[in-house]
Amino acid sequence: MLLNGKLKIAVQKSGRLFEESITILKSIGLDFNEKSNKLFALVKNYPIEIIFLRDDDIPEYVQDGICQLGMVGYNEILEKKVDIDLLIPLNFGQCKLSIAKPIGSEINSIEDLEGKRIASSYPVVLKDYLAKKGIKCKIIEISGSVEICPSLDVADAIADLVSTGSTLKANQLEILTDIVESEAYLIKSKVDISPELVELIEKLSSRISAYLNAKASKYLMLNCKRSHLNAIISNTPSLETPTILSLSDPNYVSVHSVIPNNNIWNLVENLKDLGASGILITKIENLMP
Ligand code: ATP
Ligand code: ZN
Repeated sequence: MLLNGKLKIAVQKSGRLFEESITILKSIGLDFNEKSNKLFALVKNYPIEIIFLRDDDIPEYVQDGICQLGMVGYNEILEKKVDIDLLIPLNFGQCKLSIAKPIGSEINSIEDLEGKRIASSYPVVLKDYLAKKGIKCKIIEISGSVEICPSLDVADAIADLVSTGSTLKANQLEILTDIVESEAYLIKSKVDISPELVELIEKLSSRISAYLNAKASKYLMLNCKRSHLNAIISNTPSLETPTILSLSDPNYVSVHSVIPNNNIWNLVENLKDLGASGILITKIENLMP
């Protein structure tokens, strides 16, 4: 592997980003076996290698051009202050980097943090945030289990990644303020590469966008009387304009539309009330705009 002219994509070796990263790469048609080798996987049907790394290392591997693409959380991109291209938000790995304090502590506002100790695995982002707010604190850099620091009296507060908040709660902590929101991104190196690899990256990016569009949408089909058509169309969300098809009974038509994948039940009930029948909603595998 390595200096062989193949496209290298960095993904997390194991952890919260691993499964979704692999699912996306397989869904866009890359054929590889991620289980045979813990360091890298050879893609059988394209000149591509998937490189498995700690998520902390991915931004720099991509910045330095060792890997041309990477899938990593925005929080790590900010923390490493790398110069890369943010290509596509991947709609997974959502979390916030937040400052949390012990429930019932005397810290009740950001100003109360002045002179206090804050433990975090994200010292760079935290330092920038505090500097912007004009607050001086002692930042204690910890690589894991940050949430137990206040109970051990190692710190007065923490800055950590939060998704559901259950870890904070279990450690008698609560959010004081959010610093930044994050999700996983497809990132690209700015280091020059061959025109063939540029073309391959464009192909992969466009397939990933199509996959994400498909996941965010559903395909709606319904039948209705022509007399109900206007009301039904004006109440049907649509990616583009809905398709209207004639049926063997000239009084009826069929309406097809790509709809957003949310609030589906309310939409279906509303369309039924407006006279729609045979309402069918199906998954979309691929949606190339
Ligand atoms: P590694 O061994 O790769 O360094 P890690 O322990 O740093 O693993 P994970 O806990 O797997 O990493 O988190 C990886 C990324 O998942 C985070 O950087 C963040 O972008 C995202 N993430 C989403 N929700 C959370 C959460 N609740 N806690 C931590 N990370 C989260
Ligand atoms: Zn990590």
